[in-house]
Amino acid sequence: MCAKILIVEDEAKIARFIELELGHEGYETQKAYDGRSGLNAALGGGFDLVLLDVMLPELNGMEVLRRLRAESAVPVIMLTARDTVMDKVSGLDLGANDYITKPFAIEELLARIRATLRAQERTGASTAAALNCGRLSLDPTRHSVSFAGTPVELTYKEFLLLQTLMENKNAVLSRETLMEKVWGFDYLGETNVVDVYIRFLRQKLDSAFGVKLIHTVRGVGYMVKDEKA
Ligand code: CA
Repeated sequence: MCAKILIVEDEAKIARFIELELGHEGYETQKAYDGRSGLNAALGGGFDLVLLDVMLPELNGMEVLRRLRAESAVPVIMLTARDTVMDKVSGLDLGANDYITKPFAIEELLARIRATLRAQERTGASTAAALNCGRLSLDPTRHSVSFAGTPVELTYKEFLLLQTLMENKNAVLSRETLMEKVWGFDYLGETNVVDVYIRFLRQKLDSAFGVKLIHTVRGVGYMVKDEKA
């Protein structure tokens, strides 16, 4: 099956270059030159992946991603000229599957596209039973989390991190494993992103409800455990 990819990029030459390269690889493509038409096209559905530039007219890429994620889980790879940890963190937290900095080698982009599509196939095939850890409950299908019946609002990446920890309840996961599972196995970012998101989860769960669910295992990583009675 040939994957269909939406290219949202206002620089016509870059968009055309990507279109030609993807076409050469056998992908079907469509282009949009501003954020608003890109969002509309993406929401129209039918795409297996979206390449989304950050600096766009009408709506910037971050805003497009924010609005897209409210309705769609289509994989997104962000394209940007910027290269700071904060941009990576905010893009990934808004639910981007990966991030590539311009200028990039086309081989690197193609590798990331293949990796993202493969990861999507794996996720799509997995079943989605509700996960429980003491009074904490996570429903992958409805993308909802609650503690003792009280809903907890989590961002996209916080949710994925908690889901990964709960799927491996009572087992320690290393930062590298969490990076790989939550941020994508070819994500070349810094593992301290994991620590930042563990802190966010602790604020929203442990601190908010006065419990200890997320445990640090010194020198190894993190785990969630049932509350002590
Ligand atoms: Ca641009």
